[in-house]
Amino acid sequence: MVTGFLGDGDFHLVATLETGSPDEPPDEKLKRLADVILEKDPHPVSSGIGIAGLVDGKNGILITSPNLPGWDGYPVKLRLADILGCPVVMDNDANAFAFGAIRKGSIPPKGLWLTVTLGTGIGGTIVLDGEIVYGRGHAGEFGHATVKVDGKNCSCGSWGCWEKYASAGALSGYYLERTGISEGPMELSKLAAGGETAAIEAFEEFGGWLGVGLANLAQCFDPHGVFLAGGLSRAATYFIDAARTEFLKRCSHPWNVEILPSGSCAGAEGAALMAAESR
Ligand SMILES: [Zn+2]
Repeated sequence: MVTGFLGDGDFHLVATLETGSPDEPPDEKLKRLADVILEKDPHPVSSGIGIAGLVDGKNGILITSPNLPGWDGYPVKLRLADILGCPVVMDNDANAFAFGAIRKGSIPPKGLWLTVTLGTGIGGTIVLDGEIVYGRGHAGEFGHATVKVDGKNCSCGSWGCWEKYASAGALSGYYLERTGISEGPMELSKLAAGGETAAIEAFEEFGGWLGVGLANLAQCFDPHGVFLAGGLSRAATYFIDAARTEFLKRCSHPWNVEILPSGSCAGAEGAALMAAESR
């Protein structure tokens, strides 16, 4: 969960919140977040919040989030606005991130571009001529497109979803299968950099699945380009070749995939900008 707030015509990020214990009630968790904001500015002008999951941005309701069990249907926007005393804009965290990237000029203002955020899951955003495409509200859920018909069960209720094969958890799983040892992406990057075969292979397997999904996106959208983002994209050097190889085996579209440089607070910055422009 990330947020930002506005003051004095410029936006300043003040708060990000680790999701913490799943047992903490939504009201208390949101109060913790609001406290951080209000401590910096007792009278924020507006606030934006980006949350991983299915978000009803218009009504400000979190439909469901894999990271926030027990929040299904929770009126985030209303509650946060009540506590902060200012308007709140809410969106999916991938869209918030993409919005910031559009405004900063990292995503070109013309053409069809996709962002694919690699982390705990896979987030996605469709950007057409500088505007996010929402469809009926939830377009861009690339992570839940099926890549394996008899694949692993997913929190979305389906199975074989792309994010079960090209996320941080999947990467750790590929290493675990080879070594019996559980390691996170950061440690695996170090091992791969040091030339450890199992870590290198785990990244290659991950890259292969990434390439499968990217080929699907190319077939569906024929975009001008795809931007990879999110924490895992920083380890692209270890998986991008495998992704490209798989992609080119599966489609004749040009490989136009770039890594979008971003800080860990880019989603929050984007959410704050969304809030700024909605005023
Ligand atoms: Zn799924």
